[in-house]
Amino acid sequence: MKHLAIVPGDGIGKEVIAAGMDVLDAVTEISTFDYDGELFDIGADRYLKTGELLTDEDIESLKKKDAIYFGAIGDPRVKPGIMEQGVLLKMRAVFDQYINLRPVTSWFPLVPLKREVPFDMHFLRENTEDFYMGAGGEFGPSNGDCKLKVKRELYTLDIDLNVDAEPKDDFAFEIGFLSRKGITRFADYAFKYAQARGEDKVTLVDKANVCTHVYGMQREIFQQKADEYGMKLEFMFVDAMAMAMIVRPETFGTIAVPNLFGDILTDLGAQLQGGLGMGGSGNINPHGVSMFEPIHGSAPDIAGQGKANPIAAVLAAQMLLTNQGYPEEGQMLHDAVRHVLDTGKTTPDLGGKLKTAEVGKAIAEYVLNQKR
Ligand code: ATP
Repeated sequence: MKHLAIVPGDGIGKEVIAAGMDVLDAVTEISTFDYDGELFDIGADRYLKTGELLTDEDIESLKKKDAIYFGAIGDPRVKPGIMEQGVLLKMRAVFDQYINLRPVTSWFPLVPLKREVPFDMHFLRENTEDFYMGAGGEFGPSNGDCKLKVKRELYTLDIDLNVDAEPKDDFAFEIGFLSRKGITRFADYAFKYAQARGEDKVTLVDKANVCTHVYGMQREIFQQKADEYGMKLEFMFVDAMAMAMIVRPETFGTIAVPNLFGDILTDLGAQLQGGLGMGGSGNINPHGVSMFEPIHGSAPDIAGQGKANPIAAVLAAQMLLTNQGYPEEGQMLHDAVRHVLDTGKTTPDLGGKLKTAEVGKAIAEYVLNQKR
């Protein structure tokens, strides 16, 4: 019995998670997978009533779960950033979910490429370091000296910028940090992940020809790990990778990308597989509580209308099942999604006429029919 936290959140999060749970319930009917799901009232409604975002009590309860099934967060009644930072980013930080896993699969005919070649790229985006640590500041005549705050420790850096300081100007900067520990655990996960998929190669994306310090160290550690695992390591610059994803996506399997570039490339990937409604993602801590969610947000423009495509949430459920030791059941959800696409049982964003719940039911029905 798996203990799952169910966090529908805001907007279409509520609708797609309800559909995803219909599908998970169907899986319990036909396999050994079983779960109890505790519903967490985390989101804008509660925040507007009580001022609470992610409370200590929430965290204590979530810690006891095997995994979190998450919808979406964000509401037009709340200032942008408050829900995202106070819930989603805090959750990823508290549970140290240092891998963001995003598969990019060719769901024909949704692929907007000329060549019909099947592909299955699995992006592993590092989720905690790089340029996303808020390590920056401003200095110069308007701001005085600069103090740099990194996490909870205060460092003061002497920065020797190669610029003409006369007349004095104002500067703003953002620093990317990678730690040996952070890179090492990222590389370990990437090689193990590729191995588990039966591959012999990891592609590492960076910009080591320009950001030589951070990505130089990353290359060195990944190379050591490649030797250790006896696997191949391919280096790609991020600009070349953006082109290669369009021209030859079928040549990639497991792709490790640092935080900032991962953010950008995975959105490109989302479009390659048919848009926001088709992407599931996992925020993974291999030794802790992981969280699975659709890549889209709360989409307030279509919330409450039954228009949301639940496939992204179902693919997130597939990843949850695989992560929790039920890969065959996960594959069944993949096949079920293929089935609804082939039979046109889809929401309007994919050209269909069904409502969110109806697509969920169609996927669940396919699963139930797999009972031997
Ligand atoms: P966030 O900043 O949280 O990502 P956002 O509003 O910028 O939120 P999304 O909520 O992801 O972005 O969605 C952008 C648009 O894409 C929505 O307004 C909606 O029209 C469409 N969209 C997103 N998800 C879905 C879905 N599951 N089904 C159908 N359309 C969707």
